[in-house]
Amino acid sequence: MSNTYDVIIIGSGPAGMSAAIYATRGNLKTLIIEKDTPGGQMVKTEKITNYPGYKEIDGATLAYNMYEQVLSLNIPYAYEDVINLKKENNKFLVTTTNNEYIAKNIIIATGTLYNPLGIKTEKKYLGKGISYCAVCDGKLFTNKDILVVGGGDSALKESLYLSSFARKIYLIHRRNEFRGALNLQENVKANSKIEILTPYVLNAINGNETIENVEIKNVLTNETKLLSVSGIFPFIGSAPSTYFLKNLNIEYLNGYIKVDNNFKTNIDNVYAVGDVINTNLRQIVTACSSGAIAAQDIVNNN
Ligand code: NAP
Repeated sequence: MSNTYDVIIIGSGPAGMSAAIYATRGNLKTLIIEKDTPGGQMVKTEKITNYPGYKEIDGATLAYNMYEQVLSLNIPYAYEDVINLKKENNKFLVTTTNNEYIAKNIIIATGTLYNPLGIKTEKKYLGKGISYCAVCDGKLFTNKDILVVGGGDSALKESLYLSSFARKIYLIHRRNEFRGALNLQENVKANSKIEILTPYVLNAINGNETIENVEIKNVLTNETKLLSVSGIFPFIGSAPSTYFLKNLNIEYLNGYIKVDNNFKTNIDNVYAVGDVINTNLRQIVTACSSGAIAAQDIVNNN
């Protein structure tokens, strides 16, 4: 059947694309399913300085280089959202919003999704003032006032990046201590465009068609403040993207998919690679490595 593959790779970040390269070179009939832009989080990263071979490269270029390599091997892509994965007669049925596919092996490379703020009007302003990608949308806020939420590396790093466009950045964090790296904290404190407000949480987003202001609340005193901003960048962590796995009894560890040394899950012929797995280090280089090892294990056992 034409929709039957040796391996289907769900997700096309560095882990998924590396897996595809190794699977295809091992002569496996391979399909990649991707719901968004190939490259994953890489595309949203301004500068990468820890991927060997490049002293410094912007994320979009590295993503495009990997994507071009995958295309040069004639690996097919389905640009669809996987909504279900289930085992049927020793094979796997992959259901997307548009199609059904069958595979002997599955590699889950879906990464993580940003945590939402949990504010009532959040959905209304998504893409209309709320953005999870400073690199993609920062320029839209040139000379405007914006809010960044969070206290980790992402919030600090992206505040610094956004300061080259925005007029003013309010950085709010729910605790007085930041979780992010010390050097980032120092650079943020030294940046005259960034005003740090702690311990504050976001209470409400107000406006008509666009964001006009936000209400923030001090978690110790309950005092509230209105800040006039036209954009919000939430960076309050992320969670593994596993919403399509409810009909498969996958084992998790700390909320992430549990894998063995070959990146096999508890279910035979199902592998998981990249940021979606339980691991101590989530980097492009570790994602590529996990994709390669998983695909090669399938090649060896095919
Ligand atoms: P993170 O480290 O999990 O930080 C999330 C931040 O959001 C924390 O400060 C947390 O506050 C806050 N937060 C969580 N839930 C919240 C809520 N409901 N309301 C308000 N605030 C909330 O996430 P991240 O910054 O995205 O980083 C993820 C991983 O990627 C980390 O391991 C990080 O080191 C890495 N990373 C590295 C770089 C780099 O340049 N090396 C860049 C970006 C990310 P608390 O601190 O109070 O929990």
